[in-house]
Amino acid sequence: MAIQDITDYPSGVTAIDAHFAGRPGQVASHLLVDSGEAALVDVGSNFSVPHLLQGLEAKGVMREAVRYLCVTHVHLDHAGGAGELMRHLPSANLVVHPRSARHMIDPTALFEGARSVFGDEVMATHYGEPVPVPEERVHIVNDGDRLPLGRRSLRFLDTPGHANHHYSMVDETNALVFAGDTFGVAYRSLINARGAFVFPSTAPVHFDPEEAHRSVDRLRHLKPEAIYVAHYGEVTEIDRLADDLHRGLDAHVAIAERHADAGDGQVRAIAADLQEWLQEALRAHGVELSDAQFRETLGLDLELNAQGLAVWLMRRGAGR
Ligand SMILES: [Zn+2]
Repeated sequence: MAIQDITDYPSGVTAIDAHFAGRPGQVASHLLVDSGEAALVDVGSNFSVPHLLQGLEAKGVMREAVRYLCVTHVHLDHAGGAGELMRHLPSANLVVHPRSARHMIDPTALFEGARSVFGDEVMATHYGEPVPVPEERVHIVNDGDRLPLGRRSLRFLDTPGHANHHYSMVDETNALVFAGDTFGVAYRSLINARGAFVFPSTAPVHFDPEEAHRSVDRLRHLKPEAIYVAHYGEVTEIDRLADDLHRGLDAHVAIAERHADAGDGQVRAIAADLQEWLQEALRAHGVELSDAQFRETLGLDLELNAQGLAVWLMRRGAGR
């Protein structure tokens, strides 16, 4: 396994690259170990499982030592490989949001939902078919619930917005937050001397901007030393990034509203404006990407964000 597949942070947290969709730097599975007990946060897909098992081995963590497999939410880039990974972690419980449990026990709806977004080919090459998790190994955490890990206490917070089935995990000893997609997307390739570049993920189908704003503030107000985002790894400078996320959320919503009545071309129109906004924000951050580099780095996120905003507009329209 290449050395950059494992990133050790000063906090003691390790990011293991899940090689989501066969590519490095897309999805990080975060490993936290205390007194011989381990927790893994987010998984990737079935195809990520060998990478994560190699990562555990490289870190000298026995499979039996993994006590919790935590999926922050049940989008397939975070939870798709959970059932398959659980087969290799004999002592682990799967820690889930109350809204997620049934989708892990019977992943049929999850798979079909993703297939309707991505199509058959992408499902086969990037995701595979999720494996059901035995009900007795599924542990539901409600807002504020705690679980012990070694000498630490882990706390779970309901953080909706990106999805309505999203929690974040907080390590109270070190003020570390494992945020899944709640604190945005911050690819390592976009880090420069000015620090990390962060933008919101508004992917389908439950994006809710007001809740997303609230959840960003909830995490910020914990005053953590570091936040671990699934896409990708550790971020610090929490206040600046929270401000950037609030601005990003407002920009995404404004762009969506501009095209609320666009009809058939709506997703394309939203995507075009999002690309312009993102390119501008990147330039302000000192990152210059060609169109090809932009597509390579952010093309899928852009597409998903546009689709998620269109779904949000539809839901909001239906509710009025
Ligand atoms: Zn994600």
